[in-house]
Amino acid sequence: MRKFFRHGFWAALLAAVMAPGAALGQERLAIFDAHLHYNQEPTPFYSLDQVREVFRRNGVSGILATSRPNKGTHQLVDANWPEFRVVPFIRPYRVRSDIQTWFKDPAIFDLITSEYARGYYRGIGEFHIYGKDAALPSVKKVVDFAVEKNLYLHAHCDEEALLILFSHNPKVRIIWAHTGFSVPAARVAALLEVHPDALWGELSYRGGITAGGKLTEDWRRLLAQHSDRFLIGSDTWINERWASYDDIVKEYRGWLAQLAPDQARRIANGNAARLFGPQPKD
Ligand SMILES: [Zn+2]
Repeated sequence: MRKFFRHGFWAALLAAVMAPGAALGQERLAIFDAHLHYNQEPTPFYSLDQVREVFRRNGVSGILATSRPNKGTHQLVDANWPEFRVVPFIRPYRVRSDIQTWFKDPAIFDLITSEYARGYYRGIGEFHIYGKDAALPSVKKVVDFAVEKNLYLHAHCDEEALLILFSHNPKVRIIWAHTGFSVPAARVAALLEVHPDALWGELSYRGGITAGGKLTEDWRRLLAQHSDRFLIGSDTWINERWASYDDIVKEYRGWLAQLAPDQARRIANGNAARLFGPQPKD
């Protein structure tokens, strides 16, 4: 009995060494936060030092960075934290009211191109678009610009607008902010299957993933089947989200731990590494 116990102990230890954390479930997954706003209206909720501390204590090793105006993203890029990956996206907003009007405002395309000239951007977004507004020529112009410059779109949109964005250019690549909020899991699966290598789902504010802290059957199946297509994000769109950042990450870790370790790792950071390149410490 004692011999068996000891053998079990060493086998577990060996497995842990060979696949760190996977065998014992003790690994703290690095988190890539794929929906981070460092808004500056007119000053940010946290200083850069405070932001760095929030990421450090939550095990966040990379972010998809945006801000309104883009100054906050410039600051995060310029901070150049060695342990930390910043993937900057161009926010097509100067002030909050641009959310409702950017697609009708010719100045916004100039904003996008002048930001792009900084040379480090990997995408455009998060932008908001609903229904047939997505069909406007000004939106197609942004989609075509993104394809031409090899940029991802980070789109907060309904399904109708999503389909229109795809119809503008077959080469567009879209990270779907909030994954449609409440679009049924089976429909999300169908959209992912129709758009391989072109659609990823970001899960902040996404409904239906858990009930009472447990993964729902629909979402367990969807996340397992398409674990290479999802990203997680905090969506710090208001100060309250910064204040509750620890809880947001804790909730993600709660359901990630209910998935197979390889699936959880992809969603936590692996898919972002595949989309944007490896984290500095990888
Ligand atoms: Zn959003």
